[in-house]
Amino acid sequence: MNKVSQVVIVGAGIGGLCAALALAKQGVQVVVCEQALALGEVGAGLQISPNAFKVLRDLGLESALKPFAFVPQNAAIRDYKTGEYYLKIPLAQAAEKRYQAPYWHLHRADLHQVLVDACSAAGVAIWLGAVVSRYQEDTSSGRICAVLQDGRECSADLLIGADGLHSAVRRQMLGPEKPTFMGQVAWRGVIPVSALNVVIQPDACVWAGPGRHLVSYYVRGGEWVNFVAVEERDDWQSESWREEGSIEELKRAFAGWHPEVTELLGSATSTFLWALNGRTELPTWSQGRAVLLGDACHPMLPFMAQGAAMAIEDAAVLVRYVCSFDVADALARYEQVRKPRTTKVQNLSKANAGLYHMHGGVFGKAKLKALKVASRFAPVMVHSTLDDVYGHQLPC
Ligand SMILES: Cc1cc2nc3c(=O)[nH]c(=O)nc-3n(C[C@H](O)[C@H](O)[C@H](O)COP(=O)(O)OP(=O)(O)OC[C@H]3O[C@@H](n4cnc5c(N)ncnc54)[C@H](O)[C@@H]3O)c2cc1C
Repeated sequence: MNKVSQVVIVGAGIGGLCAALALAKQGVQVVVCEQALALGEVGAGLQISPNAFKVLRDLGLESALKPFAFVPQNAAIRDYKTGEYYLKIPLAQAAEKRYQAPYWHLHRADLHQVLVDACSAAGVAIWLGAVVSRYQEDTSSGRICAVLQDGRECSADLLIGADGLHSAVRRQMLGPEKPTFMGQVAWRGVIPVSALNVVIQPDACVWAGPGRHLVSYYVRGGEWVNFVAVEERDDWQSESWREEGSIEELKRAFAGWHPEVTELLGSATSTFLWALNGRTELPTWSQGRAVLLGDACHPMLPFMAQGAAMAIEDAAVLVRYVCSFDVADALARYEQVRKPRTTKVQNLSKANAGLYHMHGGVFGKAKLKALKVASRFAPVMVHSTLDDVYGHQLPC
């Protein structure tokens, strides 16, 4: 199989657009098929850690994103009731110094729009209302074709399935299998600072409590506060993995928490409720000239804030290999490098649920108290536990 000159990408999410931009910058012709009729992203924030930031910087997006960014002062974990800090370590200059890249908070819609603009400027074609139902490979010509629900077809040398949790590309490659509900739901929303009755600390803050936690941080240059409120649940009745959430139900779930939390939620006027899903490690990420990327192959709990970061890293590595090796070799190298990395981050994310939700009763609390001691007397040691994730070097 030779190197590629035309690529079709299924899905104009953050992962698909990063791959499209990186390919276009290498002179590859790219078509992105997106099922939505209009481009856009949900009203929610995204933490962009230094590992993901470096990829966005390499794509030339730093200055376009900067006006929308908020730089958190500290990474914090606080007690749900008393507000006691179990962890408070500097993030702003510390991330720059340790990883040569900042830690940013962005609104998803801002990142998405900057990516769309950059893709358009680089000549990427984005087809809207383009629902890909399957792919078809012709081994004799070395081409692969995305077949759309409306009968249109798009032929290329490589097809990238960046079509998220319910990926149609994954389904064809590996058979129908629903993602696993992880026993947690998340409400997400943003609130304009002007509507708040409480001062929110300028930190990336996790409020930890029994069976639930809440994350708060500023986005859009500090104009809005984003919240993600997570609750453990036995089941998820709805067919949808995302639906309009009830503000009253959300407030009830966090009633009696610290006033910074209850006042914050008291100012919310709308929210989306998400089922948090995962998948066990897939046996393969590619088949012939079709390959998966991002949530399509490794959805994860958001408790390390690394799902989009992993999709962004995937895009950088995949494009680097695809532009350097023939397709079979490139896809094998991509999976070999990315699978251990993303599986590790998936497991770290799962482990954080126990810490944030005080699993184990008094032992859970004891773990948080131990973290408090460590962050006070050995902050460098606490920082270093994140080096693997934030300081990760992508292969050259
Ligand atoms: C509560 C919560 C908080 C999170 N916080 C963070 C965070 O702070 N930091 C972080 O890094 N990550 C975070 N994540 C994870 C992150 O949102 C995802 O990992 C990331 O969006 C995955 O990107 P993707 O491009 O792989 O998929 P998606 O964003 O799901 O994009 C898939 C795209 O494919 C399109 N599509 C689907 N099927 C088809 C089809 N058949 N044909 C055509 N198009 C199709 C969809 O419309 C969509 O546009 C969070 C997730 C949740 C649930």
